[in-house]
Amino acid sequence: MNHDLVIIGAGPGGYIAAIRAAQLGLNVACIEKERMLGGTCLRVGCIPSKALLESSELYREAEHTFKDRGINVGDLELDLAKMLSQKDRTVKTMGGGIDSLFKKNKITRYSGHATITAPGKVVVDDGNEQTELDAKNILIATGSEPSTLPGIELDGDKVGTSTEALAYDEVPKHLVVIGGGVIGLELGAVWNRLGAKVTVLEYLDRILPTTDTEIAKEAQKIFEKQGLEFQLGCRVTGVKVNKKTCDVEIADSKSIRCDRVLVAVGRRPNTENLGLENVGIEVDQRGFIPVNSHFETSAKGVYAIGDVIGGAMLAHKAEDEGVAFAEYLVTGYGHINYDTIPSVAYTNPEIAAVGKTEEQLKEAGIDYRKGSFPFLANGRARAMGQTEGRVKMLADAKTDRVLGVHILGPRAGDLIAECAVAMEFGASSEDIARCCHAHPTLAEAIKEAALAVDKRTLNF
Ligand code: FAD
Ligand code: NAD
Repeated sequence: MNHDLVIIGAGPGGYIAAIRAAQLGLNVACIEKERMLGGTCLRVGCIPSKALLESSELYREAEHTFKDRGINVGDLELDLAKMLSQKDRTVKTMGGGIDSLFKKNKITRYSGHATITAPGKVVVDDGNEQTELDAKNILIATGSEPSTLPGIELDGDKVGTSTEALAYDEVPKHLVVIGGGVIGLELGAVWNRLGAKVTVLEYLDRILPTTDTEIAKEAQKIFEKQGLEFQLGCRVTGVKVNKKTCDVEIADSKSIRCDRVLVAVGRRPNTENLGLENVGIEVDQRGFIPVNSHFETSAKGVYAIGDVIGGAMLAHKAEDEGVAFAEYLVTGYGHINYDTIPSVAYTNPEIAAVGKTEEQLKEAGIDYRKGSFPFLANGRARAMGQTEGRVKMLADAKTDRVLGVHILGPRAGDLIAECAVAMEFGASSEDIARCCHAHPTLAEAIKEAALAVDKRTLNF
């Protein structure tokens, strides 16, 4: 079988690259070893976690908030099986959607494990037979898988990763989460809302290591009020599994007994049995595939994008790399601006950011001005009863160009889009402050934070 482009992996990086390359006229094949297209993001990542975050938040609101607003719903009962099946249905429907997109764009799909056997040659093994493909170009988009820690054996039951935590068949009594990053907080929040005691153990002296420190600290306080427990500066040395419980062992501290452990200490690139050695590609110290700014690996005609090349492990980063790669391959021009890639933690309140943190600006010796506006003073947030958090904007002290925006608050994940667009167009805080924002909207807090950069907020 001959193809202009053979893509290995149908996650957000691979499947979006396939569509864009097909739109640009290439004969494209995509190989995926799982039955469903969509990768980690769709199967066991972004989508199922957001379905559970939405459902568990509704449950918490029904339990705690509805009454305050005059809505009496009677006796509340959790049907976890139904909640999980709603999540599974959402995933399945979206998976079918990608199948249709492949058909629409005439992308040939191969099922099985792909190995690069020689330059321009990829073999697909579906367990029964092997098919050899000839490829003018090969794109590796094999993504990542959960990491674990020495001393911890994942048993796929009591001790598991995010994949298991998306499908516990009953609410744990006590869930210990190892790692206070995004997965730990999102999935910790889900089970806490559904009734579990949740303890988050974090090695560093803070949660969310890449988030602006001031915002992360404020978020931690809010999550504590919601019932999440944190132990920071905590080195987990092992987990002992008993008949019905687990003991999480911590250096210089008492071990913690619980019934479930979620290991959420990061993800590692997926390059096993990929045949990189057959084309002379060496991975870096952390296992990522090194690429240049055009996603070219050290092997001619072999490219890589997404989680497997490192950087922010985010679906939209992988997607944008997929588009930039395909456009570069066909037109000789493809670009991605890593300074304006937003990130969102879908906790409640959400935490969203784009650009530099205050710490990064200080470290780089860049003079900046800072504007901050609390949701407490925003009419829409008041009407929603969700007044925690703030918008914080950082702008260059001389040019006023916006360098970073950090939002802790309701719908922060949607609000950050405006800031990413503004930064992409090189906006100043004055530009944002002068744009009319509808009233009453949460977005007005962004305009006010922009005004605050120049110390002239109107509503605070
Ligand atoms: P992947 O999505 O990992 O896809 C790679 C695909 O390649 C997989 O389907 C795999 O089966 C296949 N593959 C691997 N090796 C082979 C081979 N040899 N042959 C054939 N197929 C192969 N990101 C966000 O932006 N927002 C979120 O809200 C978010 N939530 C997340 C929640 C969780 C619980 C997790 C785990 C991750 C989350 N992420 C989120 C991260 C996001 O899922 C990843 O950044 C994204 O999926 C990376 O895309 P990718 O295409 O590089 O790789
Ligand atoms: P992470 O890197 O975000 O967080 C891992 C945390 O574990 C860090 O805070 C780290 O200090 C801590 N840690 C490491 N070793 C430890 C130890 N021995 N003991 C205690 N703590 C330890 O990783 P993650 O939360 O597993 O998420 C993996 C990736 O998935 C991230 O890169 C993230 O971008 C992506 N993801 C994104 C979203 C989103 O965009 N909303 C959601 C989930 C996952």
